[in-house]
Amino acid sequence: MTKFKSKLPNTFDLPRRINRLRELSYNLWWVWNPTAQRLFNRIDNNLWETVNHNPIRWLREVSRPTLNAASQDPIYLELYDRVFAEYDAYLARKDTWYGTTHPTQQGQIAYFSMEFGLHETLPIYSGGLGVLSGDHLKETSDIGLPLVGIGLLYTEGYFSQRISEDGWQEAINNPLDFSNLPLNLVLNKDGSELTIQVDFPDGPVNVRIWEVRIGRTPLYLMDTNMDSNNPYVRQLTTRLYWSDINLRIMQEVILGVGGVRALRALGFTPTAWHMNEGHAAFMTLERAREMVLAGQSFEEALAQSKANNVFTTHTPVPAGNDEFPLWLIDKYLASLWPQLGITRDDFMNLAMHHQNWGETFSMPVLALKYSNGRNAVSELHGTVSRQMWNELWPELPVEEVPITFVTNGVHTATWMARRVRVLYEKHFGHDWLERLDDMDMWEKMENIQDSELWAVRNHLKRKLSFYIQERARQRWINGGFHPVQVIASGVMLDPYVLTIGFARRFATYKRASLVTSEFERLLEIINQPNRPVQIIFAGKSHPADEPGKMLIQEVYRAVKRAENGGRIVFLEDYDMNLARYLVQGVDVWMNTPRRPNEASGTSGMKAALNGALNFSVLDGWWREAYNGANGWAIGPDADLNEEVQDTADAESLYQTLEKEIIPLYYSERDANDIPHKWLQRVKESMRTITPQFSTRRMLKEYAERLYLPAMK
Ligand SMILES: *Cc1c(COP(=O)(O)O)cnc(C)c1O
Repeated sequence: MTKFKSKLPNTFDLPRRINRLRELSYNLWWVWNPTAQRLFNRIDNNLWETVNHNPIRWLREVSRPTLNAASQDPIYLELYDRVFAEYDAYLARKDTWYGTTHPTQQGQIAYFSMEFGLHETLPIYSGGLGVLSGDHLKETSDIGLPLVGIGLLYTEGYFSQRISEDGWQEAINNPLDFSNLPLNLVLNKDGSELTIQVDFPDGPVNVRIWEVRIGRTPLYLMDTNMDSNNPYVRQLTTRLYWSDINLRIMQEVILGVGGVRALRALGFTPTAWHMNEGHAAFMTLERAREMVLAGQSFEEALAQSKANNVFTTHTPVPAGNDEFPLWLIDKYLASLWPQLGITRDDFMNLAMHHQNWGETFSMPVLALKYSNGRNAVSELHGTVSRQMWNELWPELPVEEVPITFVTNGVHTATWMARRVRVLYEKHFGHDWLERLDDMDMWEKMENIQDSELWAVRNHLKRKLSFYIQERARQRWINGGFHPVQVIASGVMLDPYVLTIGFARRFATYKRASLVTSEFERLLEIINQPNRPVQIIFAGKSHPADEPGKMLIQEVYRAVKRAENGGRIVFLEDYDMNLARYLVQGVDVWMNTPRRPNEASGTSGMKAALNGALNFSVLDGWWREAYNGANGWAIGPDADLNEEVQDTADAESLYQTLEKEIIPLYYSERDANDIPHKWLQRVKESMRTITPQFSTRRMLKEYAERLYLPAMK
C-alpha cells in the first residue's frame, strides 16, 4: 500500500541467531507482551531499568559478551523462538474479530489526534486524551481493524516535572534523541526524505513524516524541524499544546491539512476519517478542497466530506475546546476561501460560535457540523454534550441532538500486571485475552482463591513501595533535593498499609485538594495506630495553567507537614511508567472531579483491572460502572452547584473512608490475615469492570456504530 520504503536503521549489529531483536524493538507490540520484554530484561535487567524500558537504547548499550552468551543459551533461545513465533503469528493473523465479522468490508479509517500515549519512551502525550489514542491504536491492531493513525512528533516531547521545595512545578524540556526511538523516517524511492507542504502566509512549510509500528497498525507523525524551514516554523512541532495562539493554530493546520496531505503522499485512501477531539477539524475543509479541485461544487464537496467524518468530543471544560479569534483565521486561512470558492463570511460561518462576549471560530463547532458520526465518551458526558451543543440544532429538543456516546475503555494488556495475567491464564485458560469481553468467562472469577489473589495484590504493592523508595534515593543522590522532599517522595511508605492513589493531570476541576480540605480530620483518619492510611499523589499541570500549579503547591504543602508522618506523598513526573506502578500497586483509586466535568476518566479502569477499588465521584465512566458492590461512590448521583457539591463531597469522602473503607480493609481478617470481604469486593470490581471498560468493547462499538456507517 505504501509507495515509499521506510528505513530501518542498521546501526547496531547483533549475533545472527538473535538478530530479530532489532525488528522487535521497532514494533511497539512488545509494549503489551511481557514475554517479549523478557528478551531484554532477562539478560540485563539493570540496563533495562537504566534505559527506561527502551529496547533500542538497550540494544545499543548492552555489552557484546552478554549478547553472545544469550545467543548460545538454550533457555534464552527457547524463549526467543517462542516470542517470535507468537509475533509472526500475530502479524499474519487473518481470523481477527474484524476479519471474521466483516470479511468483505472494504476501506480504511484514518484517525487524527494531537497526542498519542503509547509508551513512556515516546513522551508525545500530556494525559488521558493521549493515552486513550495510544490504547485505541493498540486495540485496532489486536482486532484487525484497518486503521492508520496520524499526529505530530514533538521534538522535545511533553515536559518532565520537578517540584521545588516550596511546591512549585518546574518544567524541564529536553530534546528527544530520535535515533533512540522506534521511529522510521519515511523516504522517497530515491532515498530522499518524503516531504509534504502546508501553506502559510509567509510561504509553504515543509513537513516530514515518521512511521511508528504498533503491531499491525501504523502511525504517522509529522515534524517541521527541518533545515529547509525558517527557525520560527521549525519550532511548530517542538512542544505539545503551545499557549501562543499563533503557534497553536499553525499546529492545528499542520495536523488537519497536513495530515490529509501526508496520508495521500503515503498512498492511503481512507474511507472513514476520525477526529479525536476538535484539534484536527481543519481536516474536513482540506478534504472538501480536494474535491472542489477535482471539479465539485463546494456544497457537494462539504457534504461528501461530512458523510465520511467521525468526531469525538472529550471535554465540557472550555480549555479543552479550542476557539480562535476571527482575526487569527484571517491571518492564517485567507488563502483557503478562494480555493474553496466561497467568501470570507461563508468561511467564518462554517465554525462561528456566538458567545455573549463576541464571536469566535470554534474547532468543535467545525467538527460537529461537518461530521456524520458524533460521540461523547460516557453516558453522562453524552447528556452534557447534547445540552452544550443544542445551539447548533436549535430546532431539535435536547434529547434529539445528534451526539451519541461511546464510553472509553483501556487496553487491558498494556495496563494489567503480569502477575494478574498469570492468574487469569491459570483459571480462565491461555486464550483468555482473546475472550476478554465474553461475560461468561468472567463468572469463573469465583474459582480464584482469596489467598492467591491476596498474594498477587501484596506483591504489586511491595513492588510499588520499593520503586518509590528507589526513585527517592536516586533524587537524593543526584542533589538539589531538600531532606523534607525525600520524605515527601515516599521513603516512609509501608507496603502493608491501606494505600490510596490519586494521580492525573492537575486541572482545577479535578479537585485534588478535596481530600486535604479538612486537614485535621484527615490526620485523624490516616494516623490511627492500628489502621493507618497512606495517600499517594502525582500529576502534572500544563505549564501555562497557573491555577493548576497552585493546586499542586497546595497539595505539596499538606504533604510536607510533619504531622502526616510521611504517609501523604507527592511523586514527581507522572507518566505512563509511574501510572503503571500506581494503578497496579495501590488498594484504592480515588477520583474527585467536580461533576459533570470529567467526561470519562480512564485511570480508574486501569486500577480496577489490577484489583484496586475505585472510590470516586459519580461522574464520567464511574457513574456507569458503579453497582454498589464494586467500589465506593463519593457524593450523590445528582447535579449540584459548585459550593454545595464541594461541601457534600468532602463530607461523603471522609465518612466513607471512616465508616466503610478502612474497617473493611483492616477488620474481619482470618487466621492468615486475609481480608475476605475486601477481596469479595475486589473480585466484583475485576469481574464487572475489566471486560466492559476495555478498548475491546470500545473499538467494537466505534467500528459498528461509527466507522462502518461512515465507510458506506
Ligand atoms: C490513564 C492516564 C491518564 C488519564 O487519567 P484520568 O484522570 O483517569 O483521565 C493521565 N495520565 C496518564 C499518564 C495516564 O496513564
